[in-house]
Amino acid sequence: MPELPEVETTRKGIEPHLVNNVIIEIRIYNGSLRWPVPASVNALEGAVVSSVGRRGKYLLINVSAGTAIVHLGMSGSLRICDPKDDLRKHDHIELLINSGKCLRFHDPRRFGCFLWQATGEPLHKLLAKLGPEPLSDNFNAELLFKATRKRQVAIKNLIMNSAIVVGVGNIYASESLFMAGIRPSKAAKRLTQKECSKLVETIKLVLQRSITQGGTTLRDFVNSDGNPGYFAQSLQVYGREGESCRECDSVIIQKVLGQRSTFYCPQCQS
Ligand SMILES: [Zn+2]
Repeated sequence: MPELPEVETTRKGIEPHLVNNVIIEIRIYNGSLRWPVPASVNALEGAVVSSVGRRGKYLLINVSAGTAIVHLGMSGSLRICDPKDDLRKHDHIELLINSGKCLRFHDPRRFGCFLWQATGEPLHKLLAKLGPEPLSDNFNAELLFKATRKRQVAIKNLIMNSAIVVGVGNIYASESLFMAGIRPSKAAKRLTQKECSKLVETIKLVLQRSITQGGTTLRDFVNSDGNPGYFAQSLQVYGREGESCRECDSVIIQKVLGQRSTFYCPQCQS
């Protein structure tokens, strides 16, 4: 599943091909995504792209009339290619650009979305309830400490709640909790101020490192046959159940927490 670092890598990959260019035409081959693609996205035709932003895992293609809100869902990807290239199965949407290239939205499982936010309208409900960006200064120790008070919920579930902070997916939650030495199942309210501070630091570190690694595959991303550039990562605990901890040699444990696979070291995390 594309996580925040992959989405940010995608944003950086498509941005130079879109900004200050005109979208000549939008072609919708299959508009049955997670939600139907609305006819209002036709407002993109003839518009100049002013910027390509990101909010959580939503990509935002901005023109003066509004914003296309794009989510890659479980299996989606975007790529820049030549309009003469054969359409692949599951290429559902195509934006023709005046540079002579096109942007194609590919999504085999169709859990992604392509929606429209008109300028001046109230913020789309998908975006309205999102917490702060994890890499911004708005996500800080003070905020996390406040958000954890009186909350019995497991800390891992709390940091994966997009109303608290956006974009901390399952892999990054497990990895940042390991680096902070905090047991994923620990009740949020039991975290100390110091632990909250450490956890904020490791969440930022894990995400930033993934984005940096993703950046090295940008060239491949643009030229490849649609592989959005998932990067090999050196994971400490995620997916390593039964293997030994790289810090202490204890056996990494896997448990299900909030219906998600969770990995931790019983020795390093308390
Ligand atoms: Zn360990």
